[in-house]
Amino acid sequence: PAGYTAAIYASRANLNPVLIQGLQPGGQLTTTNDVENYPGYPEGVTGPIMMEDFKKQAERFGSKIVFGTVTEVILSKTKGDVHKIIVDNKEEIYTKTVIISTGASAKYLGLESEKKFMGSGVSACAVCDGFFFKNQDVVVVGGGDSAAEEATYLAKLCKKVYLLVRKDEMRASQIMQKRVFDTNNLEVLFNHETIEVMGDKTVNSIKVKDTKNNQEKIISASGFFLAIGHTPNTQIFKNQLDMDSVGYLITKPDSSITNLPGVFASGDAQDSIYRQAITAAGSGCMAALDAERYLSELD
Ligand code: NDP
Repeated sequence: PAGYTAAIYASRANLNPVLIQGLQPGGQLTTTNDVENYPGYPEGVTGPIMMEDFKKQAERFGSKIVFGTVTEVILSKTKGDVHKIIVDNKEEIYTKTVIISTGASAKYLGLESEKKFMGSGVSACAVCDGFFFKNQDVVVVGGGDSAAEEATYLAKLCKKVYLLVRKDEMRASQIMQKRVFDTNNLEVLFNHETIEVMGDKTVNSIKVKDTKNNQEKIISASGFFLAIGHTPNTQIFKNQLDMDSVGYLITKPDSSITNLPGVFASGDAQDSIYRQAITAAGSGCMAALDAERYLSELD
């Protein structure tokens, strides 16, 4: 939402934006099921359709949308200088302004067994992979809105869903929690953590621990879904742009302005608090307006 909105504003201002889409065009929204809180869609919309709409709107005004991944950036420290962007280790783009809307990626627990079964039962995207576990039992980890959303989505497809919450309460919003507790085939296990993902070629069970009494048990399940938050995709900007200890880009208050001239940040890459489609879109608009002002000051 941040990148496409920045492109819509920049193209309508005749700035000829090039939008480099990365490996997951449309970003995290493409792994979301129903979006019910984005104004303008009174009946709700799926994430992928909404992102397709954003893309069409950006293209309508002449944004050039390129498939590829930015592998390196060499950002200038001098006002008015060009920045160098390298796409897929070969194509070089020179530009006076850069808007970063690289979003964030799903976190994993970091267990060896989790890595072993990645793609063979372990997933961080229920909408992408839930179908493979139709009528089977699955485990979801997390206590936020993502976990609530993934667990209720999976409950529609699967026989039984276990939701492992590490504390004695969920962080998810009240409405999402209500959906969880109103779903018959969804069981919430509070104070539970994952010990091991087990199986042969694919996952067949999860060893968990009740942290209140240290009792371990094995849950029979063929799917293991992570929904424990995200990490900002800002590694390539390390040592060039200011970021916090987690990696969220730091912008000047009430703006998208980073520590380098002509470089602006928007969306989840710089937002550790709101992280919504609507706030990402809003900050993409801010970045395009900030870029436009920067360029006119140079003129
Ligand atoms: P959050 O950071 O909100 O929640 C992460 C959850 O994972 C927390 O419950 C946390 O537990 C748990 N967790 C973190 N690490 C571990 C671990 N190692 N083991 C077990 N559990 C762990 O992330 P979300 O992705 O859920 O949400 C991010 C933002 O996106 C939020 O602002 C949310 O409101 C929003 N969102 C909105 C949606 C909507 O409106 N439809 C849908 C999805 C997300 P603990 O609480 O103990 O820290």
